[in-house]
Amino acid sequence: MHPYFLLTPGPLSTSRTVKEAMLRDVSTWDRDYNDVVQDVRRQLVTLATDEGEGGSAAEYTAVLVQGSGTFAVEATIGSVVPPDGKLLVAANGAYGERIAQIAARLSIDHMALPQPETEPADVARIDRALADDRRITHVALVHCETTTGMLNPAAAVGQAVRKHGRTFILDAMSSFGGTPLTVGALAADYLISSANKCIEGVPGFGFVIARRAVLEKTAGWARSLSLDLFDQWREMESKGGKWRYTSPTHVVLAFAQALAELVAEGGVAARYARYTENHRVLVEGLVGLGFRPLVAPEHRSPIITAFLCPRDPAFTFDAMYEALKSRGFVIYPGKVSQAETFRVGTIGQVFPTDIRRLVECFGKVIREFAWQV
Ligand SMILES: *Cc1c(COP(=O)(O)O)cnc(C)c1O
Repeated sequence: MHPYFLLTPGPLSTSRTVKEAMLRDVSTWDRDYNDVVQDVRRQLVTLATDEGEGGSAAEYTAVLVQGSGTFAVEATIGSVVPPDGKLLVAANGAYGERIAQIAARLSIDHMALPQPETEPADVARIDRALADDRRITHVALVHCETTTGMLNPAAAVGQAVRKHGRTFILDAMSSFGGTPLTVGALAADYLISSANKCIEGVPGFGFVIARRAVLEKTAGWARSLSLDLFDQWREMESKGGKWRYTSPTHVVLAFAQALAELVAEGGVAARYARYTENHRVLVEGLVGLGFRPLVAPEHRSPIITAFLCPRDPAFTFDAMYEALKSRGFVIYPGKVSQAETFRVGTIGQVFPTDIRRLVECFGKVIREFAWQV
């Protein structure tokens, strides 16, 4: 296997030192290890809050959940909506639709507000739905819709949800750690992300940053045993960082190292600046080759960018994928229903010089296949 850069929305390229942190076997019951877990939980709350309008750290708490990001989303949806509650899902992409799918599978009363994938979540429409339907107790939104790279207006939606006195669940999976944000400014009661996105750890667990007063009221609501968010939190909280069931110990050690490397890079602001430069170099380079981004510039995130596939009948994604892979870059197929697209992620241990090389490779591949872009 040749090494390559992962230009995907997770897992992504990680540093050597993050991978090396996994070369230790530790006990899930051991005090030293549980102290690492507690430290990670505290750091996550600190990252998600700051003094003043960010909301105070004491108001929030972090729960870690085994599995990929979706497991943490499902744990949240399945645990925090009460038995007689109703969930409103604002969906403009595959990850929003997945939340509605989770609610349907768990027989949770819900209403989806589907929207075109190329338009940001409609705050006025969400506001009207909340005014019209008093039974809605919770609202779920995806912050960066990784399907397209669209950045949804999470703060405006959060304010509307708070104004109506409902609970706001934000899937910030692909933005947390790589985009400056606070749960206070977003009015998020639950913010969900995972180990292998912008914190640049390896896959194996997700996490939820929850408003303590809201989470404390959810005992006994979970529709699943292993994905019971409240029970998982109570265990970690009361037993000093112990997980229910086997903990992904190696992944947690790698994550602790990844958090240290985020601080060493200069924190979220510095990482956001690097991702933004990666994204700028990518868009400028590919537009220069004739490609067109799917989403309007004002709605784009620096996390991942969707481009329309060339209309040349000879073009195939698979041929482009293989040609780029042989040159050391793995990109991502499109996930949009309305248009043929491909996606390029700009997060992980990837730097503007790597993206410049990627653009050169795109140019070579197009010339090699003689595609009309
Ligand atoms: C990556 C991602 C998820 C979780 O996906 P997994 O494959 O389960 O890790 C959920 N929501 C968004 C917006 C994501 O980008």
